[in-house]
Amino acid sequence: MVKLKGLKCRECGRKYPSSPAHICEFCFGPLEVDYDYEALRGVITRASIAAGPPSIWRYKDLLPIEGDVAVGHHVGFTPLIRSQNLAEELGVTELYIKNDSVCHPTWSFKDRVVSVAVTKAKEFGFDTVACASTGNLANSVAAHAAEARLKSYIFIPADLEQGKVLGTLVYHPTLVAVEGTYDEVNRLCSEVSDKYRWAFVNINIRPYYAEGSKTYGYEILEQLGWRAPGHIVVPCAGGSLITKIWKAIRECTALGLLERAATKMHAAQALGCGPIVTMVKNDTDVLTPVRPNTIAKSLAIGNPADGYYAYRSVKDSGGYGEHATDEEIVEGMLLLARAEGIFTETAGGVTVAVTKKLIEAGVIPRDESVVICITGNGLKTPDVLLERLETHVKIRPSLSAFDRALAELKSQSTQ
Ligand SMILES: *Cc1c(COP(=O)(O)O)cnc(C)c1O
Ligand SMILES: [Zn+2]
Repeated sequence: MVKLKGLKCRECGRKYPSSPAHICEFCFGPLEVDYDYEALRGVITRASIAAGPPSIWRYKDLLPIEGDVAVGHHVGFTPLIRSQNLAEELGVTELYIKNDSVCHPTWSFKDRVVSVAVTKAKEFGFDTVACASTGNLANSVAAHAAEARLKSYIFIPADLEQGKVLGTLVYHPTLVAVEGTYDEVNRLCSEVSDKYRWAFVNINIRPYYAEGSKTYGYEILEQLGWRAPGHIVVPCAGGSLITKIWKAIRECTALGLLERAATKMHAAQALGCGPIVTMVKNDTDVLTPVRPNTIAKSLAIGNPADGYYAYRSVKDSGGYGEHATDEEIVEGMLLLARAEGIFTETAGGVTVAVTKKLIEAGVIPRDESVVICITGNGLKTPDVLLERLETHVKIRPSLSAFDRALAELKSQSTQ
């Protein structure tokens, strides 16, 4: 089955052969993978998907890969959890947590996009992969490059969290720390990618890379028994994930996998870096870049590449968006941990905080189904909790010392 027609400009519709390109030469619009949906109709069914492996590759027919899967055979198919406790805390009846904090192998949803991008880079014959990253992408590109036995160059802002730096270095890439914001790192990488023949997963391979995010959406729909939820709350950085979940819903409707969908997409961002949510609130399709200042570093992109399309996904679906302050982000992380036993990173704190606000404001009605996107693992960003949490008692190893400490703790808690 030939399912790929190459690339197509999102703005002027001009077509290009399959190649490591991402911008239309005529109108400078972004290129997107062009599928032959006619050929796919009837070939992809709920049963054919169910017969596939328990990973993102069960949706391989809807991904831009022509040959065999090169890396990331175990990525995705993460749990969709029906929440009781957090649902109660937030006062809603039907809440689900899509938990990519346990995505294999680097504990964030970035493994989805990277396994597709690195497989495509191998198809194109590259020997080196690279990326500009806010942290999770760095981890994932370094890991998948190791698995693929490719060289890798990883560019990050120099002020990244320790956990994300070490979680990259361990895979032995060449790590380049740049003294600047992510947006400055990204601009530098655009220049580097013009000069060196490397596969920059989120620059020249971006049209292929971004398709990997659709699997987050397919999984939500399949795990709900091929039913579309009323609301999905998505943390946004470059704006690709929210755009592609929305695309996944529309594809599944067009292919007859879903009977109907009336899902509202809601954007979640930090107050210290929320240009997409600002567009939504101000009802304008013009993005005003910001200089990031937030603890949610994985979302700290001040000039998001897919900002316009993220905004369109929210508007077209009838959704909304909200900002979370740094304090609300930490509260969100703690709420999810205490209610559900799930330790998410700052981006997940943003999602929980924003969901709470949207419910309180009545934007998400309490009796409609809601899926929240938990996209990364808390063990990568423990720094933000250092001042907030401490050990309760410290004792010598004797029973009498413990008895005294316990009595002390109990008297404190009844005061
Ligand atoms: C990158 C990232 C996002 C946002 O992804 P975009 O596709 O760039 O909007 C969300 N959560 C986490 C944990 C991320 O690392
Ligand atoms: Zn064009």
